[in-house]
Amino acid sequence: MTPARRQVDGQPGFNVAVGGKMGSGGMMVAQPLDVFVEPQDAGRLAAKIALLFRDEGFRDQRTKARLAFLTQAWGVERFRATLEERWGRPLEEAQQDVRLPGRADHLGIHAQKQPGLISVGLCVVTGRISSQSLQELARLAETYGSGQVRLTTSQNAILINVPEARRSELLAEPLLKELSPDPHPFFRGLVTCTGTDYCNLALIETKSIGKRLAQVMAKRYPNATPVTMHWSGCPAGCGNHQAADIGFQGAKARVNGELADAVSIFVGGSTSTDPRPGEKIMELVPVAILEQVMPVILKNLDILKNIRRDVKSEKRVLMVPASS
Ligand code: SF4
Repeated sequence: MTPARRQVDGQPGFNVAVGGKMGSGGMMVAQPLDVFVEPQDAGRLAAKIALLFRDEGFRDQRTKARLAFLTQAWGVERFRATLEERWGRPLEEAQQDVRLPGRADHLGIHAQKQPGLISVGLCVVTGRISSQSLQELARLAETYGSGQVRLTTSQNAILINVPEARRSELLAEPLLKELSPDPHPFFRGLVTCTGTDYCNLALIETKSIGKRLAQVMAKRYPNATPVTMHWSGCPAGCGNHQAADIGFQGAKARVNGELADAVSIFVGGSTSTDPRPGEKIMELVPVAILEQVMPVILKNLDILKNIRRDVKSEKRVLMVPASS
């Protein structure tokens, strides 16, 4: 559901898209359903979509049990018509898309709509935080804000409803040395999945490797422009590696006969108003040499981000008969 506004009366709400996915088989961008829903109905509509999938989704094959495959098989029109039937009244058509281009990570200090209040976005590196720091974060939310902490899709935290007058006091709190409101660009966009620590599907550890690489690169490029780096420990793609400027997918390789941690590297993925999956540019890169590989990628990122597989010529090659 993405923010939208009804043209006739300016009512805010959401346009609805279905069937997006990450992970095994690659990223698929959600397809617009041509539906607008007001905020108070959004939860119920989401539940209807989930129930439609429960009843109609492909259950015989685990690999096909995703809404994306049902949407693909049915097409958006049939999906919309079936949903409308279950909704019990006509669904309103999509309204004006009010998303802004680009990416907002919500880190740092932002004025809220409510006069005199600010939000403070804090970077939780790789989304991992100790119980002690979490307690302290809760204390800061109660002391300075309204006791609430919002979480972002990039694994960070936001303190909200902080009076502007208490800004300096909050910024001087020791916890903000660990959870910085203004981290280096390589940490702002760093996302990692669970990895081997707590996931038995993982092929590699992700959190410490991702953090270490970001640290080394941040030291080498102190004034870098923002780059998102996402890590998934296996093809399931929980770290959304195909939705980042640079994505890493864990693998195992043999290096001189020894089993070693490795990654496939993807570039040019994005979400927002211009969604597209990252393209795989390298495979079986040993983690041990990533520090040497990364400067080449970063130096050429603008070119690499625009590389796209030429499917037509691939098909042509595949169609050449063996005898020729
Ligand atoms: S991407 Fe793979 S390793 Fe990472 S959390 Fe998901 S299933 Fe586990």
